[in-house]
Amino acid sequence: MIRTGDDYRRSIQDNRDVYMNGERVKDVTTHPMFKPLVDIRARIYDMQHDPATADVMTVTQDGEVNAVGNALPYTQDDWWAKRRATDAVLEDVGGVVTRVGDETVGEMWSLYDGTDVLNEVDPQFAKNIETHIGKVLKGDPFHVSANTDPKGDRSLAPQDQDPDMLLHVVKETDAGIIVRGAKYETAAAYANQAFTKPTIANWGNAELSDYAVGFICDLGSPGLKFLCRGGFAGTRGDARDYPLTNRFDEVDTIVIFDNVLIPWENVLFYRHTKAASFIRATLHRYSAFAFVQRTLKQADQMIGTALFNARQTGLEKQPAVQEKLSQLAIWREGINAHLTASIALAERSPAGLMMPNQSLMMTGRCHALNNLPAMMHIARELCGGQICVTPNVAMFENPETKPWMDKYYTINDRWVAEDRRKLLAFARDLLNSDYAGHRLTFQLFAQSPPFAQSGAVYRNFDWDGPLNFVKNGADLSDRVMDGIAPKDGDSAVLKYYGDALRKAAE
Ligand SMILES: Cc1cc2nc3c(=O)[nH]c(=O)nc-3n(C[C@H](O)[C@H](O)[C@H](O)COP(=O)(O)OP(=O)(O)OC[C@H]3O[C@@H](n4cnc5c(N)ncnc54)[C@H](O)[C@@H]3O)c2cc1C
Repeated sequence: MIRTGDDYRRSIQDNRDVYMNGERVKDVTTHPMFKPLVDIRARIYDMQHDPATADVMTVTQDGEVNAVGNALPYTQDDWWAKRRATDAVLEDVGGVVTRVGDETVGEMWSLYDGTDVLNEVDPQFAKNIETHIGKVLKGDPFHVSANTDPKGDRSLAPQDQDPDMLLHVVKETDAGIIVRGAKYETAAAYANQAFTKPTIANWGNAELSDYAVGFICDLGSPGLKFLCRGGFAGTRGDARDYPLTNRFDEVDTIVIFDNVLIPWENVLFYRHTKAASFIRATLHRYSAFAFVQRTLKQADQMIGTALFNARQTGLEKQPAVQEKLSQLAIWREGINAHLTASIALAERSPAGLMMPNQSLMMTGRCHALNNLPAMMHIARELCGGQICVTPNVAMFENPETKPWMDKYYTINDRWVAEDRRKLLAFARDLLNSDYAGHRLTFQLFAQSPPFAQSGAVYRNFDWDGPLNFVKNGADLSDRVMDGIAPKDGDSAVLKYYGDALRKAAE
């Protein structure tokens, strides 16, 4: 099933307890700091129906039309279709939005892959995973991700401090579990559901824990409070001076769980700490692709902006400028190559889905993100100091100042003051503004912190290749190859974790 933009808007007008800037928000669909993103999310739904875009945004499966982003991937073509749909969205909205559903829904497919392992620990929840995979297809919800708790003092176990620093179960009832705690979740205030699971944290060595719980949280549930950081939209005067700030701010929220009932049918795993570790290890097996694809589009924004500026000012012909532009292109094409190769060398998952090649995708994520700050700095340099000293639009319009602005910002017949102002305002918002800094931090942390991204590389790179090459070259004995752990993408990983889990369950 596919929803429309208005279906989506109605679904979040459920009187949820949302706060921003210390005030209760009555309706996120009309509040000026949420509306721009709600409208973009609604447009994505409407693109599924728009004759111009419906083909790229939807897929027909078993006679039913579903969103491409929600469809489980079985073939390489499915990945090309997902990549095309994401590109279509970002081109249509004219910017980069990440947490709009397709980037997070893949976490559910990792869970699907883990069904056998989870079954071995505790079979009672396996059918819930399948039900929810189906529900995403049939219900077309806006699905987000909840991992990160406030955590408190990391040197202490959660039970040795305020126990709510990490989300945990406080009670079981016939209807379900009651949970308390808090999670940081981008977009939760205007989404429908969140796959909620434990963070990477010191939540103890016990085999069973009230903190090891994963579930689908209906974001309209009673007892949830959404305490949002201040939005950017409307904070910097005329929107024309900050075109990205005013359209693309994805509002982050600390979601408070004040004794929230999670019905049993929404519980995906519970109490087994090894199950929680397994979920964490494979979480981004699919969703990293959509995340990295966003960085590719961000690279295009930076290249386009820097090149337009170099062209405007006649600097493009300078070899030193071309060299800097090439550095941006090399980085951009490195991301493109990782994404493309991860489809070309895609791997079959334990549950029979098609995973992007894990090693190429996880190394691609690090290549994209580790280089992002340096690349932003090159783009900033290529745009020159004028991006931070140029007056705002009001100065270009005031009759007293306009002649001067026109004089100094018109370069030639092609580049008149108005376009130069627009480009500089765009560049400032892309590279220098509060929004730009936030966006950089989002890329750094939103999917997982850098050490966890490196961890995913470590678990997925095929170390055997270099080891065997050296073993043979140095004529080492077979003994040196003992005790090597399998990779995440390896079907052996199920056995590896399965054995550990079975032991834990015993
Ligand atoms: C803009 C933005 C959006 C976000 N959106 C979401 C979201 O939608 N859903 C969600 O669940 N989370 C989200 N997050 C939270 C994000 O996942 C966390 O910020 C991230 O996991 C880091 O956790 P922390 O902030 O508690 O940092 P900390 O745990 O305090 O870590 C800080 C630093 O300490 C070091 N460190 C900590 N632990 C270790 C370790 N074990 N090994 C090595 N170094 C370590 C690292 O340098 C790390 O970066 C978002 C964050 C940002 C900034």
